[in-house]
Amino acid sequence: MAVTIIIPTALRQYAGGSSEVEVEAKTTGEALERLTSTHAELRKHLYNDQNRLRNFVNIYLNDEDIRHAEGAETKVKDGDTIMIVPSIAGGSTTIEEAASKPALTNEEIARYSRHLIMPEVGMEGQRKLKAASVLMIGTGGLGAPLGMYLAAAGVGRLGILDFDVVDESNLQRQIIHGTKDVGRPKIESARDRLHDINPHIRLDTYETRLTSENALELFRDYDIIVDGTDNFPTRYLVNDACVLTGKPNVYGSIFRFEGQASVFWAAKGACYRCLYPEPPPPGLVPSCAEGGVLGVLPGIVGAIQANETIKIILGAEGILINRLLLFDAWNMRWRELKLRRDPACPICGDNPTIKELIDYEEFCGLRPQPQEVKASEELEETTASELKRRLDRGDDIQIIDVREPHEYEIARIPDTKLIPLGQVVNRIDEIDPDRETVVHCKGGVRSAKAIEALKQAGFNGRLINLRGGIIAWSDEVDQSVPKY
Ligand SMILES: [Zn+2]
Repeated sequence: MAVTIIIPTALRQYAGGSSEVEVEAKTTGEALERLTSTHAELRKHLYNDQNRLRNFVNIYLNDEDIRHAEGAETKVKDGDTIMIVPSIAGGSTTIEEAASKPALTNEEIARYSRHLIMPEVGMEGQRKLKAASVLMIGTGGLGAPLGMYLAAAGVGRLGILDFDVVDESNLQRQIIHGTKDVGRPKIESARDRLHDINPHIRLDTYETRLTSENALELFRDYDIIVDGTDNFPTRYLVNDACVLTGKPNVYGSIFRFEGQASVFWAAKGACYRCLYPEPPPPGLVPSCAEGGVLGVLPGIVGAIQANETIKIILGAEGILINRLLLFDAWNMRWRELKLRRDPACPICGDNPTIKELIDYEEFCGLRPQPQEVKASEELEETTASELKRRLDRGDDIQIIDVREPHEYEIARIPDTKLIPLGQVVNRIDEIDPDRETVVHCKGGVRSAKAIEALKQAGFNGRLINLRGGIIAWSDEVDQSVPKY
């Protein structure tokens, strides 16, 4: 049987860059076996040491999760599609029962007239919107369209939570902020924009990080939580706090040109942990800061989140519950996968083991373990100014740049050799162990990984990490090198 396996963007680098691979197989397990026997790197990302599929990787045959069929033994037919779906650095009772819904003023009636003449919204629906409260976590790429559409639609109370400051590199996609806002706290910039869009709504701002200490109290005060975050600890925290407080979690996530959206609502279906019980290990899934994101993508995914939020408030049918929407902006393709509540889910299952919020940084492996601290102590580092001083003095130093070729195109340090992180072990022969070697990347994290990988591969020359990478070089040595 010829089946097509669809490889997600984050994993394509381990499959020779292919987005689709056709293999002959009788079962899903056999198909994956075929795929990973030709792409050994991919195997490491899909399977653990016990040869079992990793928890943050789900396999779908057509639109069904194979865990709900016969797993690796699930039979395939000619023309079937197998999708690898890794987690990606995305009718209301409570609200319908909201007691007395506020009336609309004449000004509001004029403003919302295109809603009022739709039978699906009408006066009743618009008053539900006015009575509703929504907490948005983050005012970045997803939060921008989300906040603007929810404000425009007349959601009566919006909570906005962010602790970040507007940076120039945000403006390519975070259209709630403008050039004049660079350097301002995002919640202030967002509040001004939302107030301008609709002065009739109440805006509550929280300039803070969402933590295990504040999440439950905050969430209890709102009808719906919308997750516009970009990191795994917050994603799991939002999910768990939503399950514990019984709130719907309107989810969206983005990477490069692929997006995901769903509504996780434990009272009505699957939660995020039913889909992904555990996060990927740190570093495996790149963040948007490392991997990039097409500027319009969060606009589309955030607008879907706004759409579903409004439908939940209106008590509409057809909400994205138990459905995972996948969007590929590059090929303009939508897919929809079925989700199911997992009775063994650690938080929403029949016998939950998580009954309170935990330490999510630790859960996601982001708190340094003792041996990692030791490794970083062993890591020899230099600063950009020190490196420049030594080069000027004529010291014999080879500089290896472990960024990607398209980053090298944007900015480079003179007289460096480019070997991307993913190739560094295979190209170990190109690095002279008898010369002192400085390794650099954009900010110093990938170069530290490269040094670790080279040491593990038996490289015995002296390796020094450039602290702060090319950004530090631009700051300290040569400001004509652009920062990106
Ligand atoms: Zn669950």
